[in-house]
Amino acid sequence: MKKENSKSKKKLIIVGAGASGLVSAIEAKRNGVDVLVLERMDRPGKKILATGNGKCNLTNSFYDKDTYRGEHREFAYHTIHKFDYQNVLSFFESLGLFVVENNGYYYPKSGQASTVLDVLLLQCRHLNIPILCQKEVIKIKKKNNEFEVFTADECYLSHYVLLCGGGKSNEKLGSNGSTIQLAKELGHKIVPLAPALCALHGKGNFFKETSGVRVKARIRLKIDETYTEWNQGELQLTDYGISGVMVFCLSRYAVYGIMEKKGVHAHIDFMPDLNYDECKEKLLFLKKIVPYKTIPQALEGLLNQKLALAITKFCNMKTDLLIKDMTMDQCNKLSGTIKNFQVEIMNFADFSKSQVTAGGVSTKQIHPDTMESKLVKGLYFAGEMVDVDGTCGGYNLQWAFSSGMIAARSISREVQG
Ligand SMILES: Cc1cc2nc3c(=O)[nH]c(=O)nc-3n(C[C@H](O)[C@H](O)[C@H](O)COP(=O)(O)OP(=O)(O)OC[C@H]3O[C@@H](n4cnc5c(N)ncnc54)[C@H](O)[C@@H]3O)c2cc1C
Repeated sequence: MKKENSKSKKKLIIVGAGASGLVSAIEAKRNGVDVLVLERMDRPGKKILATGNGKCNLTNSFYDKDTYRGEHREFAYHTIHKFDYQNVLSFFESLGLFVVENNGYYYPKSGQASTVLDVLLLQCRHLNIPILCQKEVIKIKKKNNEFEVFTADECYLSHYVLLCGGGKSNEKLGSNGSTIQLAKELGHKIVPLAPALCALHGKGNFFKETSGVRVKARIRLKIDETYTEWNQGELQLTDYGISGVMVFCLSRYAVYGIMEKKGVHAHIDFMPDLNYDECKEKLLFLKKIVPYKTIPQALEGLLNQKLALAITKFCNMKTDLLIKDMTMDQCNKLSGTIKNFQVEIMNFADFSKSQVTAGGVSTKQIHPDTMESKLVKGLYFAGEMVDVDGTCGGYNLQWAFSSGMIAARSISREVQG
């Protein structure tokens, strides 16, 4: 095996040329650190190209206590306060990238995620940062004060290692969980990984009939007997269950619930703008004004057509029953189903179809001010491989940028000594 010697200059190896790896490489190099980036794919930053449906939702100016999740949520907020959305915007402006804002969500002005990757790579090239592709790091050893970083055919030496390999989601875009495994081999606790920001699979045939429907709805999750999270927005019904941004935002709680063998139910309110009594009144009003309509036809005045039909069948009512013949019991049942449709969540989309990975290197073993391991001096972490996951809205890139920047700055301070 060929050994690449570190010369007298202190060297940083960054494992992974994704969002956090590229930002940290730029910051470290700007501060005079000798940086080498190793990337397992044939080109850097593939995932960035796929973000925000190809438009890249870079960051967001709004956040609350549920924006970031993980065993110790406060860790993420602590780091993000040190490099927040305004710092992200200034950083990209320094690369010549300007943004547009929509309700707090920020996107590149070009409307293209590829611009974000381009400006990062052009800056890396300008700073002469070597990014070696098709170099998957498979082992890391610490000997005295140096790291040995192994790929299949080479061993690189460095004084600092920053792991930026991402989670396990969407492996075809690069991240395969391998740097989380490296952290584990170096003695770190790993919070169980779970697909997050993903679709959920519901029990029963209801969804076969409503596939393709998009409606405004409200969902509450019930895990065992406790109502936990809720969200409101556009719900997408698929042939296997529920999807869309609103579901993505709730999904990690449902996924962990299922992984822990708990009973997980979604309670869907298909008419969130009316309360139960108002919904019932509307049905009784329809009975009065359009007695000649069938129940699904009458419901169409209030609900999506496919959904109206499926709800009628779900309530065991004949689809040709005229609304004038609807009994009070039937009216109660319809209102109850529209306002509180309960579905058991049986499964979830796997890592390949999830946008983000929850879990990862335990934040208990990372210094929040530096992103350095508390166990291995000189080893740092950034991005999705850490036990921090954000909800939808630019928060995961923000986390990757903030944690990458904090790690790079700490390493730079160490090097400058
Ligand atoms: C379809 C999709 C859309 C998304 N849209 C958005 C969005 O609009 N806004 C948002 O905030 N977030 C979005 N995300 C999430 C966001 O892209 C990630 O959270 C973010 O890219 C994580 O950054 P990272 O640097 O930790 O990891 P990544 O960007 O995944 O980069 C990790 C890199 O490390 C490399 N690597 C892994 N292991 C090794 C190894 N052993 N050796 C060498 N290299 C290795 C990988 O190939 C990869 O290039 C989206 C994700 C997906 C999948």
